[in-house]
Amino acid sequence: MSDVVLINPNINIVDKEKDHYSVLDHLGLGLVAASLERSGISVEIIDGYALNLSKEVLIEKALRAKPSFVGITCNFIGFEDAIDIARNIASVDNNPFIFMGGEHCTYSADEILANYHFVDAIVRGEGEITSVELINNFNILSNVAGIYYRDQKSGKVFKNPDRKAIDNLDDIPFARRDTLDYCKTHKETSIIGMLTQRGCNLDCHFCNAHTFFRLGGGKFIRRRSPQNIADEIEILHEKYYRFNMIEKMYFYDANFIDGSRQSKQWAQELAHEIIKRNIIIPFEVYMRGDSVSPEHDQELIDILKKAGLSSVFIGIESFDQNDLNVFGKKIETDNMERTINFLIENDIFGLTQGLIMFNPYSTFQGLRRTADFLLKYNLASFWNMSQKLQLFPGVKLISKLSSEGLLDNKINSNEVYSYKFQSQSIEKMSNYLIAMNDNPIVINDNAIMRYVRGAVPELYKSVSDFPDIIKLLHPINLLINKKIKEINELNHSYFVNIISSYESGVPQDKIDKYKSEYLSSSDKSVRDLDNLYNDMLRTVDKSLSEKIINNKVAETI
Ligand code: SF4
Repeated sequence: MSDVVLINPNINIVDKEKDHYSVLDHLGLGLVAASLERSGISVEIIDGYALNLSKEVLIEKALRAKPSFVGITCNFIGFEDAIDIARNIASVDNNPFIFMGGEHCTYSADEILANYHFVDAIVRGEGEITSVELINNFNILSNVAGIYYRDQKSGKVFKNPDRKAIDNLDDIPFARRDTLDYCKTHKETSIIGMLTQRGCNLDCHFCNAHTFFRLGGGKFIRRRSPQNIADEIEILHEKYYRFNMIEKMYFYDANFIDGSRQSKQWAQELAHEIIKRNIIIPFEVYMRGDSVSPEHDQELIDILKKAGLSSVFIGIESFDQNDLNVFGKKIETDNMERTINFLIENDIFGLTQGLIMFNPYSTFQGLRRTADFLLKYNLASFWNMSQKLQLFPGVKLISKLSSEGLLDNKINSNEVYSYKFQSQSIEKMSNYLIAMNDNPIVINDNAIMRYVRGAVPELYKSVSDFPDIIKLLHPINLLINKKIKEINELNHSYFVNIISSYESGVPQDKIDKYKSEYLSSSDKSVRDLDNLYNDMLRTVDKSLSEKIINNKVAETI
């Protein structure tokens, strides 16, 4: 039995083998659980996504814990399931108090409480202190800052003032890592999340990072001390990484280095602390396209790499200046290219990057420009070229679109694509491409491409002590790179063809024919790529087996 159950619904059940599934823990729930526990409140985390649980299993587990409170988080994709879970849990006798939290629920709080009578409260913004106060002051919720709630007797909804941002992030206890404990028992590995800072000092028009963590005021950016972060990494290293249970860490900070002197100095101190304690775990960070520059930051990148920085995810969004202006990015494409080239030279430009190909103001010219840049940087995957702006509740762009008549009558805030385009042809094209993402061939091709690109460097790392094996892999690797380039070219040429087709009003049956041709070529190329990767795997297996046999023979002699 637990006082509180915290739930993260699954997005969809995956075949772990086939989908190259990596376990990924839910940092937000781990942080809230740690704060509740520190206040003497017992908590069970049921992370449906990390553990690949069905909705039914998840509900059964939650009810078995007989909690007094159930907290559910979700993003727009998991929203319907989250509501269904809440409905089921609320329907039992002596039903628990149900609250929801996280970014999506924060900005949809009015709507959720108005439409779903079984949800009792929404925790808005940072959840650590608010959740503890909610539970400890359950009978007088009017005193709890940071919640919207339904009065249990009258059913009336009240909106309490938002909570001021937590001043010192070092005061927050380290996140509970239930997923890693699960991995320990089940001999699996996990990718884990970390927050080393909160907030962002920019206000891009499609993003809530600059408001979510400080709804009730407070500093735009708060950073944990390098010592505090290193203390947490040290525990993770000692307890899990040493036993090969952590694949890597994602630093979820909105913008790991914001370009300021303080930010760079802080990052440098953090790197020194990690190196000094010898607690290196590979980590990936998010940055803007102008956060670092070749002129000023080589030393910083060198030390961060020594501390484990393995990859940088840039919020590129688009290579068209008009699009970037629509997004309020306050960045020039030239600066972005300089940063990207700098990261490539340092071998830390991530395989996946943030892209928003289509937005309500897209032009054919802008789409072509972005597609050409994607090809140049080997990022021309079908997935990237079909991505469409997701209009999250709370973002600035909503009022602009609304005032310009481009917003559909949004019924639910989780319908993030319910807007119109200025150009009807581009809208049709965007809908056509996004629907293709449900095609099994596209799903499979995207998964294999992503997997192979990530797995080859890992395979190289695993045999880094054997130069003879690396020599054997080299010719296969050249073929793999050639094939990846070919696939990018194929995707790009299909995309450019589709642009021209919609621009010149080519009939739909012809467009469908292009699709069939493209899918069959793409499928063949991706299967070739998969075969090449399997050749590589077989080469490694065979070489390692031979080494083991030779060693045994040598020992016997
Ligand atoms: S998109 Fe990036 S830079 Fe812009 S507000 Fe969001 S986190 Fe900050």
